Amino acid sequence: MNTKLVKIKDSEHIADEALIEAARIIRDGGLVAFPTETVYGLGANALDEEAAKKIYAAKGRPSDNPLIAHISCMEELEPLVSHIPEAGRKLAEAYWPGPLTMVFPKSSVVPYGTTGGLDTVAVRMPGDPAARRLIALAGVPIAAPSANTSGRPSPTTAQHVWQDMNGKIEMILDGGPVGIGVESTIVDVCGEIPTLLRPGAITMEMLREIAGTVEIDPAIQGPPKDGLRPKAPGMKYRHYAPHAELLLVEGELEAVIGRINFLAKEKLGQKYRVGVICTDETQNRYRYGEIRSVGQRSRAETIAHNLFAVLREFDDLEVDYIYSESFSRDHLGQAIMNRLTKAAGYHVIRV
Ligand code: AMP
Ligand code: MG
Repeated sequence: MNTKLVKIKDSEHIADEALIEAARIIRDGGLVAFPTETVYGLGANALDEEAAKKIYAAKGRPSDNPLIAHISCMEELEPLVSHIPEAGRKLAEAYWPGPLTMVFPKSSVVPYGTTGGLDTVAVRMPGDPAARRLIALAGVPIAAPSANTSGRPSPTTAQHVWQDMNGKIEMILDGGPVGIGVESTIVDVCGEIPTLLRPGAITMEMLREIAGTVEIDPAIQGPPKDGLRPKAPGMKYRHYAPHAELLLVEGELEAVIGRINFLAKEKLGQKYRVGVICTDETQNRYRYGEIRSVGQRSRAETIAHNLFAVLREFDDLEVDYIYSESFSRDHLGQAIMNRLTKAAGYHVIRV
């Protein structure tokens, strides 16, 4: 298949012709990758089981891992769900459009092919205006997981999508680098108390401010354990995995720098390729391997924004070992550390 790569934004202008063509492809059961404020999504008609199957095939994604349905306005939510719990309504008012996905009891319109066999459906209204325009033009909710090959870091530029999806999908809409860089927060609002299933840019504090008590699915805090199944089926997979072995070093910053330099030097001596993930504040303290800053330690948004691109760059450089500093777990840091520890396969050393 010939994959068309089309720019949709120059400064403030959004190219409607490309969005109209993309919307037609989606209505006809095809696949289009498009930018959202979190990461690039791989879109298909969420109400068409055959189209959903194509997403699983293009990504190499296990079909029990459900898809998020994207909508462009509140009226599009009602047909997809059997009812809207109070917490869901309040959170939608506060944070939609935006980087928040909510899990609702599904209606019969949503096929099990989209929900991985579950009786619930995950729904998000993205903040990116081009994404919302595409959904509105398509006239159907768009199922859109991250537009990466399963197991690779999520794409934050159209070039990342091209690397993984060229030849497999009809079209890629290039809207430039995304803003946030980590996937949406997922909250299950079906029960009495809303439960966080995946941390993201809508933080625990922000959720609690609106919904009061919010629980955290215990399965997202540590390595998979027997009998502890994550409520978001996708969280059980080793997502975001770079080709290299990634080790996260946690502790007092001076000790972290010392240990990473020691480990990097040792592996270089053994003729391995080594990558180091650090921050603007510490970058000039490292001496061995390929050194990449992910942003400012004091500004978590910069770290979220750059993290997946740096992991992909290390894939391209074919490094064997990656040593990474760790970051604050507060606010957006919870999402950053969740993605990093998973990418590391929970391989963390404390110094
Ligand atoms: P992605 O679209 O690649 O960011 O992944 C979507 C995430 O949403 C996965 O972790 C899924 O397991 C999760 N998800 C989607 N639908 C549901 C649902 N109905 N219940 C719980 N988690 C869901
Ligand atoms: Mg994904």
